[in-house]
Amino acid sequence: MKKSFIICLIIFIILFIIYIIKDKDKINNYEYNKDNINIIYPYFNNDNIDNYINNYLINTLFNFKINNKNNLFIDYDYYNDMDNTNLTFYRYEIIDNIVKEYKDKYLINNNKINKVKDLDVINYIYDGYTQKNIDKNKPMIALTFDDGPNYNTGKILDILNKYNVKATFFLLGKNIENNKDIIKKMNGYGMEIGNHTYSHKLLTKLKKDKIKEEFNKTNDLIYSITGKYPTLTRPSYGSTNNKIRKLINTPIIIWDIDTLDWKYHNSNKIYNKVISKVKDGDIILMHDIYSATSNSLELIIPKLLEEGYELVTVSELFYYKEITLEKGKVYGFAK
Ligand code: ZN
Repeated sequence: MKKSFIICLIIFIILFIIYIIKDKDKINNYEYNKDNINIIYPYFNNDNIDNYINNYLINTLFNFKINNKNNLFIDYDYYNDMDNTNLTFYRYEIIDNIVKEYKDKYLINNNKINKVKDLDVINYIYDGYTQKNIDKNKPMIALTFDDGPNYNTGKILDILNKYNVKATFFLLGKNIENNKDIIKKMNGYGMEIGNHTYSHKLLTKLKKDKIKEEFNKTNDLIYSITGKYPTLTRPSYGSTNNKIRKLINTPIIIWDIDTLDWKYHNSNKIYNKVISKVKDGDIILMHDIYSATSNSLELIIPKLLEEGYELVTVSELFYYKEITLEKGKVYGFAK
């Protein structure tokens, strides 16, 4: 009896020690309220860093000029380079989907902390899953548009924006140069932008270097305008093989409803194709470069909304369906 009690006690002590060690480096998000503004920041169970965070918050809080009346997010990067330990604090204010980022950089030397300098404030669009009021229990689809942009794309963007829905555009690199403003507008409206190669060649007929060039050129062009590399790829004609799948460093998105808008140029036909087949989790293929396609959207979108569908980007669709997209894998729907 006595022996088994001691064994139990030892096991308990070991488990307790494991629990303490495991919890040591856990980061918790703390919340602090000042003048009805929530300040949210990550906190280590590590005195070294936590002291600096405390000081930063106390010393600078009173100097913050907070424009956003809701939340302020604070984050930091604590890292070593050649001789120094660096600690850079980031402050994020998010107002109407625009992120204002402030940085304060410090050098830590022999436990002394010195501010390096004030760094520039950067503004960028918050491209997370920001669609508000998405009900994940509702049926959900992703409209996708290929081969643009061209003169018609702006019209499509305005229709999507009018109904307050989002879609995904797979751009052709060769069309980007002359349509930079449209891409800025696309990005600003919160649409998702993917890569559809540079020149729409049949990739299965190309050599490895040429295939890489088709994707890389378009990625760089999109980055030069939006500041973001596309995280989705749709090869021209949706055609892939082993070689192509290995060369693409993002998930590969195809579709399960083809509207054949390029073939018929008939907005009623496009409407019927979508409405007769649509179901939860579909990815619908369209082309933003045709008038019949933009006209069909004026019919399709109100009908889908009336039937209770949420219209989301491809990344949102997989996010809400809780499917993790993997690079080099092909997806035609989310269900
Ligand atoms: Zn295409």
